[in-house]
This record gives sequence, C-alpha cells and structure tokens, in this order.
Amino acid sequence: MAYEVEAKLALSALATAAQFCEQIRLTQQYTTLEKSDNSPVTVADFGAQAIICRAIAQIFPNDSIVGEENASGLRQPDMAALLAAIAHPLQAFIPEATPALVADWIDRGNGPVSQRFWTLDPIDGTKGFLRNNQYAIALALIEAGAVQLGAIACPQLPVDANHPDRAKGVFFLAIRGQGAQQIAMVGHEVRSIHVNTDLHSVNFRQIESVESGHGNRPLQRQIAQAVGLPAETQQMDSLAKYGAIARGEAALYLRLPWRERPTYQENIWDHAAGALLVEEAGGKVTDIDGKPLDFASHVKLIHNRGIIASNGVIHAAVLKMCGMA
Ligand code: AMP
Ligand code: MG
Repeated sequence: MAYEVEAKLALSALATAAQFCEQIRLTQQYTTLEKSDNSPVTVADFGAQAIICRAIAQIFPNDSIVGEENASGLRQPDMAALLAAIAHPLQAFIPEATPALVADWIDRGNGPVSQRFWTLDPIDGTKGFLRNNQYAIALALIEAGAVQLGAIACPQLPVDANHPDRAKGVFFLAIRGQGAQQIAMVGHEVRSIHVNTDLHSVNFRQIESVESGHGNRPLQRQIAQAVGLPAETQQMDSLAKYGAIARGEAALYLRLPWRERPTYQENIWDHAAGALLVEEAGGKVTDIDGKPLDFASHVKLIHNRGIIASNGVIHAAVLKMCGMA
C-alpha cells in the first residue's frame, strides 16, 4: 500500500506528541507566550513540534517540514528558562532531549514548500487546549501538488460522539485513495469513517469555531440555514471539526473571509490534513469559488478564498449561496 511507512511514522509521532501535550495539560505546566499575531503558544506547542520533527527527520532526513512554530525566540538568552521548561518534561519521552537539541528539532520544522513536504500544526486550537476543550495535532504530507496523507490526533475528542462521557482520544488517518479511518487512542480500535448524508439526522447541522473571530459567523449561519440546516450549530475548537464532518457528526463547516480581518489568509497546516480526511470520508472540500484548495504552492492558501467542507450532498447548494452572498 502506498504511504504505509509514512502513515506508521505519522501515527507513532502523533501518539508521543499527544501524550506529551496531555501531560502538560493535566499538570498545568503550560507557560504561555503571546505571538506577534496575538495568538497564544505554550510549552506543549513547542514540545509537540520538536517530537514530530525529530521523528520525521529520523526516517525521512531529506523531507522538508513546514511547521507552525520556530525556536528563534526560544534561543534568546532571556528565554533559557522557557526552553528548559520544554526540554525537561520532554526527557520523559526522549531521554537525550537537551535545550539545544530541542531548539534544533523545532527549527527542523521551518523548511520550504517543495515537491514533497510535510505540514505540521503541533497544537491547533491552543485556546481550546488552555480551556481543557478540543485541540488537535495535525500532520499532512503534500507530494506532487496534492495532500497524499493526513493524520490528526484529538486527545480530548470522544471515541463515540454519542457517548461523550466515555473514552476520549482518537487519531484520524486518511491516505489519498484509501479512505478515512478513526483509531481509538486507548485500545486502538480502528473503524472506517464516512460523512453523514442523511438530511433527517440530528447530525445534519453546521459545525463552527468556538472563536467567533475565526470566520464570518453571521454569514456562515445565514448560508447554512438557506441550504436547510437548523439554526442551532455545534461548536468546536481546532481541526477536530474536520474529524466531526468526516465521521458524520456534522454536515457543514464553513470558513468565510471576515471583513474585520480582510487580510487574513489561512495557513496550510490548519487545513491540509482535515481537508483530505473529509474527502476520503466521502465529503467535499473547496473554496467559496468551488476551486480545490491549493496546499502545494505556499504556506498560506493564497490561491483560495474561504473554505467549504461538507458532506458532499449539500455542496453545490452551499456554493450557490456563497455566490449570492
Ligand atoms: P478554530 O479552532 O476554528 O478557532 O481555528 C484555529 C485557527 O484559526 C488557528 O490555528 C489560527 O491559525 C486560525 N486563525 C487565527 N486568526 C484567524 C482569523 N482571523 N480568521 C481565521 N482563522 C484564524
Ligand atoms: Mg492552528
């Protein structure tokens, strides 16, 4: 099977990173910094990027990695305590992790977009992570112009959406042409997942960000209702939303340009793994002009406007409404 080695590597690296993030979350060791775009970054974001970049570099030393974080701030003399606060808990997972090595592993994730490269969001939904809500670790392999593999860890997502009080923690895996899977973190139960096309199901609903500023929420709701979805939405932080669509928990996720942030362009690491997952689960993902998302040209989705991820069945109607909006 194509990409078998890459899939094994992705799941194993995500598993270690997820354990590290959960340890930081549960012990509340998350020293938080504010980045230049005012978004938070924690010890867990940096540690997860270090773990995953190191793992990729060991098996595919020539692969480029386009990751969200970098260690340039951490290398400043006044940041030595923070770098140590990342390296220390990492040693439980990687005994040789010194501050200098950790900074190097993080910066292994500042490679270029190229013919074959990985894109990594070490913690998507950091705000959700800090609220003990949903967050995701997302890794995608882009080769020959398209996402070929997407793997997402959601340590806080219920294994069974109908039983949110039972076991939590899932991986999602999609390989182009090979379908989509959910793998439970505990017990490793594997199941094929599919979008929900039943328009009468309670899951025929829109899913949206918890953060209202991460899209044009009023317009998103207007469009969803115009295509027959109920007014009530499900809210979730992070790329876990793509997992929810892929496993049939919701039918539509819209990310429309927002006039309050007209210059915002989406990062490839926030969407690449999720977009392939939804497609491989039988859904459809395009921009609001109906064009495929271009993950292969730039670190941002510069050739696309907005994102529509749907169960496929309602996609044409949503596109039409986007054209009228
Ligand atoms: P969500 O979990 O849906 O709230 O999305 C989290 C992601 O939103 C973060 O990884 C950010 O990269 C991204 N983000 C930050 N600001 C904006 C914005 N103004 N519009 C859209 N996405 C944003
Ligand atoms: Mg993100």
